[in-house]
Amino acid sequence: MTELANEIRVIIDTEGPMPFDRFMELCLAHPKHGYYITRDPFGADGDFVTAPEISQMFGELIGLWAAHVWSTMDYPERLQLVELGPGRGTLMADALRACRVAPEFLAAIEVTMVETSPILRERQQEALADCGVPVSWAFGLDDVPEGPLIVIANEFFDALPVRHFVRAHDGWCEKLIGNGADGRFFAGMAANPEPLIRADAPLGSILEIGAVSHQYMNALAIKIAEFGGAALVIDYGHTQTCLGDTVQALWRHQPISPLEAPGECDVTAHVDFASLARAAEASGALVSGPVKQASFLTQIGLHHRADALKRRADPAQSLDIDRALARLTATEPEAGAGGKPVPGMGALFKAMAITSSNVPPPPGFEPDGY
Ligand code: SAH
Repeated sequence: MTELANEIRVIIDTEGPMPFDRFMELCLAHPKHGYYITRDPFGADGDFVTAPEISQMFGELIGLWAAHVWSTMDYPERLQLVELGPGRGTLMADALRACRVAPEFLAAIEVTMVETSPILRERQQEALADCGVPVSWAFGLDDVPEGPLIVIANEFFDALPVRHFVRAHDGWCEKLIGNGADGRFFAGMAANPEPLIRADAPLGSILEIGAVSHQYMNALAIKIAEFGGAALVIDYGHTQTCLGDTVQALWRHQPISPLEAPGECDVTAHVDFASLARAAEASGALVSGPVKQASFLTQIGLHHRADALKRRADPAQSLDIDRALARLTATEPEAGAGGKPVPGMGALFKAMAITSSNVPPPPGFEPDGY
């Protein structure tokens, strides 16, 4: 049993069964034993691979996207370029390198990396050591300096905890995690339903609510509406709010139960883009998309960038570029963790932008019929 499992066991013994979002939060962000706090989980040796780790093109194009959006904001003299949950710092390093073609943009920006993990902060510091622009770190949006801003969030919202409600005879009862007699955790249900949820659905249906994501998006949209700017959210998820449990836990690229090894496996949930969009609009921001990642990347020039890189590449590098391009834009189902078919990354992942009212809709969001 992990140290974190012992600690959760004691909490449950003292306070009673805990809602799933608290369990997920402890698994990922416990200050001593949380998954992101204790390790660098990325890459072939880690638990999962993200788009910036697949190809430099991803960060480069997002950097150029940000420079373009800055121009449509009327070139503010000072701009906060913010990344939420920047992992190894690869996306930002690639973005800033690509933006050397836009020195006026680099002269205007201050970068803020919003990151809670001390290990990943170190990785980010290494990645940005020679980037040539001022960089600072923050724990949350509140610590980001005031002023016009552009925010990037790739695979950030999926790491925020979700609540689960189960449809019972008398209403929606929250899923609670309890201590089993066999030393394992098990999922049960609160005895009384939550009176404020009115949705109707067949018995046993699961309603997943990303309450922390909503709050984050509210705060982000308020900041963007107030100071002017844009945010780009890329993540895997669905465009319409729907029923079902989307939580998945990965350990070394293999699925396991999220209750199995707290703090040792990555636990994520699909992002409900419709509800994030509602949260952004309710806080005074405008929403573009969501569109498929394949569509967004294609519209902002992925294929042109790949061609340009291939002109300077040897045959092995060319093959790598083609493979990365195919992976980032794949829309057909492919074998996912544990061999189960999952939609290709280009369709599973969506991109959505939010903007203040004085900024035109950013590039990349022409409707793709999705
Ligand atoms: N964007 C990166 C990493 C995605 S993984 C990439 O695409 O490769 C999720 C990232 O979010 C990690 O860096 C993790 O430490 C960070 N994170 C998770 N919860 C956070 C929170 N509440 N505040 C800030 N960062 C968080």
